[in-house]
Amino acid sequence: MSIAAEKIREQVARYGLRMASCGLVAGTWGNISARVPKEELFVITPSGLPYHDLAGKDMVVLNLRGEVVEGEHRPSTEYLLHQAIYQARPDVNAIVHTHSIYASALAVARQPIPPILEDLVQMVGGGVPVAPYARAGTPELAKVAAETLGSLGAVLLANHGVVGVGRTLEEALIVCQIVEKSANVYVWASLAGEPVPLAAEEIKALRENYLQSYGQYFLRSAALRSKTGGPP
Ligand code: 13P
Ligand code: ZN
Repeated sequence: MSIAAEKIREQVARYGLRMASCGLVAGTWGNISARVPKEELFVITPSGLPYHDLAGKDMVVLNLRGEVVEGEHRPSTEYLLHQAIYQARPDVNAIVHTHSIYASALAVARQPIPPILEDLVQMVGGGVPVAPYARAGTPELAKVAAETLGSLGAVLLANHGVVGVGRTLEEALIVCQIVEKSANVYVWASLAGEPVPLAAEEIKALRENYLQSYGQYFLRSAALRSKTGGPP
């Protein structure tokens, strides 16, 4: 196993613990994966084991055909869902699947989350649709989830939970946190009055700003480019 794959195994184990610690799942449900950079592999949490006891060595490594190439445990039962998204989305390097409460409530009611908050549309690129019902762990769920996700950052799984994706594990976990927060706000806003979604051009501008210039990374790389005389 490459050093890169070992590093990703450690990271996936660490993020599993973070996902459980921030209350996005109960028990052993939910799962997390990340691609191994420059290798046609991804690392996923094992099925049905408590996050608090997991270390990097417990993670399972699969190729993009969904075959286990390393690991002593069975992979998450949702490995097909992760595989389908990696195949459809070259921009996605990490996937977090949670069963968080408010998002699950909307998934049960088969209600999408409209594009109501600025952080939501920055991270997800719009509202969060609901994929049609398919049983957990099946190829049918993998198909409808990847199709409904499309180019967005998150999808609700009917009567089940949430899938959030990102360029990094950090981003995919934050997507799931923001989806949960937005579901919570949407429920309360619906009780208080008529929730008002953001306009399409506002969503586009917020998403572009997030992808191109939000945070510190872009400032640092711009400063570096001006020092080294690289392109602006
Ligand atoms: P695993 O424990 O097999 O990852 O499954 C949990 C789950 O959330 C199924 O949808
Ligand atoms: Zn699940």
